Amino acid sequence: MAHPKFLSPISCMLLVSLFFQSVLAHSDDQKQNPFEFIKHLQGCHKGEKVKGLQELKQYLEKFGYLDYNQSSLPVHAGDDDFDELLESAVKMYQLNHHLKVTGTLDSQTVSTMMMPRCGMADIVNGTSRMRSGKRRSHHRSSNFRTVAHFSFFDGNPKWPPSKYHLTYALSPGTRADVVGPVSRAFNTWASATHFTFSQVQNYAAADIKIAFASRDHGDNAPFDGPSGVIAHAFQPTIGMFHYDADEQWSVGPASGSFDMETVALHEIGHLLGLGHSSVERAIMYPSISPGISKGLDGDDVQGIKTLYGV
Ligand code: ZN
Ligand code: ZN
Repeated sequence: MAHPKFLSPISCMLLVSLFFQSVLAHSDDQKQNPFEFIKHLQGCHKGEKVKGLQELKQYLEKFGYLDYNQSSLPVHAGDDDFDELLESAVKMYQLNHHLKVTGTLDSQTVSTMMMPRCGMADIVNGTSRMRSGKRRSHHRSSNFRTVAHFSFFDGNPKWPPSKYHLTYALSPGTRADVVGPVSRAFNTWASATHFTFSQVQNYAAADIKIAFASRDHGDNAPFDGPSGVIAHAFQPTIGMFHYDADEQWSVGPASGSFDMETVALHEIGHLLGLGHSSVERAIMYPSISPGISKGLDGDDVQGIKTLYGV
């Protein structure tokens, strides 16, 4: 059969409606910065009741600063009250980010909280936290297992000594331009540690599985569309690393995009056992702006060497 010269009226209507649906969906995504609500909370402090504080509580809980289940104080988890517990969570956030510890949502705190970031929590089950303030190496207490500025996951999970060679694979159909950035990131970690890495084709059998995913993607850690959380990776030996497919990604730093290699360096740090660092220049600092590229810092290298004792 020859190609039809004209589309039927019904296909035209379908096409037009599909076009408008995609335009609408696109503009919806564009305006939806999941951390935008924090902007409207600037100036808030204890004792106030402001719409949006409930969302802030969810944000602080998600990133490890707030646990209403473990508090003996009156519970305000589901409301907009700026209570005692929220103030202490804000202070902990400020401490961990080297901000002035005011307990108030001042402009510096708000702009730091609004930065795109990794989806992994800064404090895991309240048992570890990013080191802040002056460097006190080898500091340990019963509640905190943190050395210098870097941190580890709860229980210090790591790859066993015999497992120093790790294979990685990209999910079938993954954009081809991520291969270079990811392999460079693995090379950087290989040159700073006892680990070696190689890419394999068998996704199911690889130690580390890398994929682009959006929204809910089956690992209990849904992404949130453009901006907000941009990637995550899990502790040893889970070996999963996901980029948020709804972000703009680039090979190398580019305005308005996230550098795939820089983000891979950060997430590989998690795959090897590092938690977040309070050192802003460290690759394990939780937040990153678009257009930025970073390398490993002494803090990152010291962290991994401390974890593996090599
Ligand atoms: Zn992270
Ligand atoms: Zn995921």
